[in-house]
Parts: sequence; structure tokens; C-alpha cells
Amino acid sequence: RAKESGRNTYAMYRPEMQAASDARLEMEKALHHATENKLFELYYQPQNNAEGELIGAEALLRWRDSNKGFISPAEFIPLAEEIGLIVEIGTWVLNEALSQVATWLEQGKWQSSWRMSINVSPIQFQQASFLPILKSQLEKHHVPASCVDLEITENTLLNDWETSLTKMQAIKELGVYLSIDDFGTGYSSLKYLKSLPIDRLKIDQSFVRDLLTDHSDEAIVHAVIAMAKALKINVLAEGVETLPHLDRLKEIHCFYYQGYYFGRPAPADQFIASFVHDSSDTAPSF
Ligand code: C2E
Ligand code: MG
Ligand code: MG
Ligand code: MG
Repeated sequence: RAKESGRNTYAMYRPEMQAASDARLEMEKALHHATENKLFELYYQPQNNAEGELIGAEALLRWRDSNKGFISPAEFIPLAEEIGLIVEIGTWVLNEALSQVATWLEQGKWQSSWRMSINVSPIQFQQASFLPILKSQLEKHHVPASCVDLEITENTLLNDWETSLTKMQAIKELGVYLSIDDFGTGYSSLKYLKSLPIDRLKIDQSFVRDLLTDHSDEAIVHAVIAMAKALKINVLAEGVETLPHLDRLKEIHCFYYQGYYFGRPAPADQFIASFVHDSSDTAPSF
């Protein structure tokens, strides 16, 4: 309404709008404070194959504000992108996730064939500093590049196709795995899929949710799997919540999964306790 009234916008200003902008300013301040003081935590969610074995984990950012309590990344990541904090936060995530993998590798709790998936914001990916930061983080933590998967979204590739391609090729040369997150919800072209060095598509959970009841969702998932197979790209289904969903996904040849059926995101210790079986339990003793 305010937009329609054009020049008279100020006349439409109401107390509740003032309250909303106060709340936003307060949230911005809190996010600056959280970023400066590193008041974040990473949760880890298992990723599994059709045999039920662990193949990796996704690192998911958590922010618990002392006043507001838990704030969802779906809410604060867009704000961080808008106010220029995402690069700092994203670098913190990279450092924390790699440090965790390094610790787990050292403790024998992480297998070198597993991958740690790390979300990368389009803005973060497009920085000239992204590649140098990635390299130096890998060196700093002595984590093999093959243990790392970067999740980017389709929209990351929209601007400046040439630069994106060059950067992705450099990432592949390091040996890091590349996934397209939330596949099917952004703007992607088949040309991208054909020409970019992509290892995996993560089918967005919105297609998986109604797989059993919505025929067009099933058709879409089925088609994505067939296309990915032809292009030799792996497919992982997000948001796998029930056994019937898993069964249907297997039927249509999707063999990698993430979702509540396998496990919810958990703090580091709990992730290990719940999802990683101590190999010393089963190791033969001589
Ligand atoms: P995403 O990368 O697509 O992550 C998957 C989201 O789905 C996570 O939400 C996860 O908790 C949730 N999820 C997993 N399994 C299920 C399931 O079976 N059912 C349902 N309904 N949901 C499931 P979360 O942790 O709230 O994260 C939301 C989004 O915030 C992420 O979506 C990602 O886009 C963004 N995000 C999270 N951490 C980071 C980060 O470190 N950096 C950046 N740039 N973005 C992040
Ligand atoms: Mg993700
Ligand atoms: Mg996703
Ligand atoms: Mg998502």
C-alpha cells in the first residue's frame, strides 16, 4: 500500500511499521554482535546410501541469541547476505567444519571416504577471495580435499558464467566435491549441467515431500534422476522423512539420501554418538 501511494509514503507510516523496522535493526545489531563474537555453532546431519551406510554429513549453521533464543538460518542467512556479513560467517563455517573433520579424522571417528558438505552462499562464492580462503583452510587443517563437498545453489551460477566456470574448475582441481543444493527450485539451465564440473545434485525437499501422493513431483524426481545418470552426476534426495519415501526413491533409482528418517541435524558429539559406530567394536582382535 505504501508503495502504491508513491510520494505520500511517509503519510502512510504507521506505528507497527516503526516496530517492524526497530525489530529489524535490533536483529542486525544482534547479528553483528554474534559474528564478531562467533556465537554460532554447527550441527551435523547424516547422509546415507541405499545400504544405510553413512557417506558424509552436512554442516548446518545454528545461532542461539541470548535474548531471542534459536534463530533459523533460513531467517538470518538472507539478512547476513544483505548487510555484508555473509563472507565472514561463511569463512567461520568453513574453518569450523574443517577443524571438526580434522579432529574426527585424528580420533578415527571420520572415514576418509566420507564427505563433509558445507553450504556456500552465492555472494561468498563470487568473492575473488573465495578460492584462496578455501585453499588456505584445507592447508591449515590438513584435511584431504576429497573429504570436502561444497554445496552451491543454482542461482550462484546466474551471474558471470565464465568466472563461475573457471572457479568451479579450480575447485575441482583441488579435489573438492561440488554439489548443487536445493536442485529444482532455482534457475538452472541444462547447459549448466552439461558444461559445469558438478558431482552431485541435491533434489530439493519440496519435491521429495509429496513424492508418494503428487504424481507430478514423482515424475520430476524420476526425470532428474534419469538426466543426472546420463550426465554421470550423482543424485541425493533431501528431506527423506519416512520409510515409504525411501522405498519409493530406491524404486526410481535414487541411492543417496538425507533427512529425518536417517537422522536430524545434531551437535558434533551427538552426531558421533548417534550415527558413527565405533569401529573398535567390530574390529577383529588378534
Ligand atoms: P539446506 O542447505 O537445503 O539444508 C537442509 C535443511 O533442511 C536444513 O535446515 C535441515 O535441517 C532441513 N532438513 C533436513 N532433513 C529434513 C527433513 O527430513 N525434513 C525437513 N522438513 N527438513 C529437513 P536448516 O538447518 O534450518 O537450514 C536451512 C537453510 O539455511 C539451509 O538449507 C541452507 O540454505 C541455509 N544454511 C544453513 N547453514 C548454512 C551455512 O553454513 N551457510 C550458508 N550460506 N547457508 C546455510
Ligand atoms: Mg545445503
Ligand atoms: Mg538443500
Ligand atoms: Mg533448503
